[in-house]
Amino acid sequence: MPPQAGLCETCRHAQQLKHPRGGGGYWRCLLAETDPRFERYPRLPVIECAGHEREPKEKRG
Ligand code: SF4
Repeated sequence: MPPQAGLCETCRHAQQLKHPRGGGGYWRCLLAETDPRFERYPRLPVIECAGHEREPKEKRG
């Protein structure tokens, strides 16, 4: 079963990090670098988020 990260799974600001000892790993919110409203390591699953922006399925260019 994949890790349940909620909105972060589809967010362009999210970075998935592997846990050094294996397991599901965790997610980092890159928006938190510039906006203090967001947590750098959000508590999962993220169900509601003002910063969520869907990652484009097809990358252009
Ligand atoms: S903006 Fe919200 S949904 Fe996107 S990575 Fe940060 S916490 Fe997750």
